[in-house]
Amino acid sequence: MAGLRKRFGATPALDGMSFTVRSGVVTGFVGPNGAGKSTTLRVVLGLDTPDAGWALVSGRAYRTLHRPLCHVGSLLDAGALEPGRSARNHLLWLARTQGIATRRVEEVLELVGLAAAARRKAGGYSLGMRQRLGIAAALLGDPPVLLLDEPFNGMDPDGIIWARSLLRSLAAEGRVVLVSSHLMGEVQEMADHVVVAGRGKVIADAPLEDLLARHGTLEAAYLRLTRD
Ligand code: ADP
Ligand code: MG
Repeated sequence: MAGLRKRFGATPALDGMSFTVRSGVVTGFVGPNGAGKSTTLRVVLGLDTPDAGWALVSGRAYRTLHRPLCHVGSLLDAGALEPGRSARNHLLWLARTQGIATRRVEEVLELVGLAAAARRKAGGYSLGMRQRLGIAAALLGDPPVLLLDEPFNGMDPDGIIWARSLLRSLAAEGRVVLVSSHLMGEVQEMADHVVVAGRGKVIADAPLEDLLARHGTLEAAYLRLTRD
């Protein structure tokens, strides 16, 4: 994406956001609250229109955004999760609306560790389980590009370790994996490459090891880079 600009009223949410994300590696997307991370992901997916600039994902936009329930009140733009519906039925419904074979639902339920709980009503799920369901929904269509917005929110430590290794293996299979997160420790454990955003633009765009060599930890890099 290059030169993305987007204003909501007087405040610029994106002020020339530009970076390229490679396939085969995990890219961490970090920055303070309000830096423009979520807006960037939404613009890339075509859910928000930029005032200027452009975004391309392998030549087109893929609707595979994963958003945590706690922020937006709906699990996916593909459709709100109804509390009375089971995870399995929710995924079956998504598969039907997207023309995806129903056997893929069982595959993704296994992949995210929800197979045993798949027939329970999603209204009783913990936030961590909803995150897993969100990831399952994003993976239904086996997308080559995954954009995850704060996927670790509400996950317990086991869930975070699981999500980290899942995202690493999805990237290793050759996908584009972009993960926005404010958890520097998690990003340091998982990412190969890191983009640091602040006030709607990129402050740093570097291999994780370069940031670690220069600053010791990603948190130290983040604090130094976003200080002014
Ligand atoms: P981040 O995900 O990095 O925390 P966001 O992209 O959510 O940042 O927000 C960037 C800025 O744009 C913030 O100032 C936020 O308040 C504003 N913003 C984002 N979405 C909207 C919206 N739909 N309406 C008004 N302001 C918004
Ligand atoms: Mg956000």
